[in-house]
Amino acid sequence: MQALPPGSTIGILGAGQLGRMLAAAAAQLGFKCRVYSDVPGPASDLALSTTIGAFDDLAKIAKFAQETDVVTYEFENVPVEAAAAVERLRPVRPGLKALEVAQDRYKEKSFLAGLGIPIPRFALVESPADFAAAVAAVGAPAILKTRRLGYDGKGQARIGAASEIEAAFEAIGRAPATLEALVNFKCEVSVLLVRGMDGETRFYDIPENHHAGGILRTSTVPSALPPEHQARARDIAGKLADALGYVGVIGVEMFYVGDGPEPLLLNEFAPRVHNSGHWTMDACAVGQFENHIRAIAGWPLGPTERHSDCRMTNLIGEDVHAWPKLAAEPGACLHLYGKHQARPGRKMGHVNRLAPLSKGR
Ligand code: AMP
Repeated sequence: MQALPPGSTIGILGAGQLGRMLAAAAAQLGFKCRVYSDVPGPASDLALSTTIGAFDDLAKIAKFAQETDVVTYEFENVPVEAAAAVERLRPVRPGLKALEVAQDRYKEKSFLAGLGIPIPRFALVESPADFAAAVAAVGAPAILKTRRLGYDGKGQARIGAASEIEAAFEAIGRAPATLEALVNFKCEVSVLLVRGMDGETRFYDIPENHHAGGILRTSTVPSALPPEHQARARDIAGKLADALGYVGVIGVEMFYVGDGPEPLLLNEFAPRVHNSGHWTMDACAVGQFENHIRAIAGWPLGPTERHSDCRMTNLIGEDVHAWPKLAAEPGACLHLYGKHQARPGRKMGHVNRLAPLSKGR
């Protein structure tokens, strides 16, 4: 395995805040970044160049790829054909398989079920003809989610009783969907791991995640997850990463349901650095962004141990206007994404509040 030398160029598909933080980490290790995106975004502030082009303009994407040494992606809805066009010219890491599985909820659930990974009951709903069988298989209450392009709770509708599935299908625009059993969880957690090109895997501590309005608000370490269940969560995520032949950081979201034969159910995974891992930037010697860059460049992985307790709070919409106060707060590490308009629901930045380590891993 040949490590990519400093001075090499990393291509990033997508120009959002994750790309921006990847570019910052890459710069720290002496790499340059080029960005390809269909819309301008905050990653461009830190990139050597930005190519604005459609993701189905394969000729433009190929030209972009030729100006890089390795390519990664910062959002999971990059069309597989676009990634395949890059792969013909340059390595794409974490890889196409992870992209293909993660961007279709039904494929994702079927893949996880095939690995024997515990997940909520689910069924495919492509048209009203599927309603009866889906409700019979899953039961109610349940949640209908579009197969594709759902994020931050978008493209979802809950049903309290079987009869409500028709209205739920209307609410999600009659798009192909999966019906999933509503899980009565104690809390939501996520496993963040980094896997190198040689298969070496390192885990960050497992944060507890709180959402509001379908959007992640806080991620906190340590979580209340008992050690034996933490080990189980790591086993599940590690098995998934191995099965995908994954290279880089992956975020694996789980529901913690408590004691019982299956204490954890996998909800979904993101084949990229993850919002619930932003705390690692300040509470670990090597955060998720740097470790992703290390992994895709074939470098040795960095330490994932946590040196502090931490709560990450997303700054959403108008929250960002509190920056002067946050910048003056002791123990608070402020990260702003350089977005101009603070629209409601838009992730504008985050703040990591550190505290002395209360307990080890
Ligand atoms: P998702 O887009 O699948 O991550 O869903 C967004 C949020 O909706 C999750 O973080 C949960 O809070 C909630 N949610 C999603 N699926 C379920 C489920 N099967 N049972 C209970 N809550 C869910």
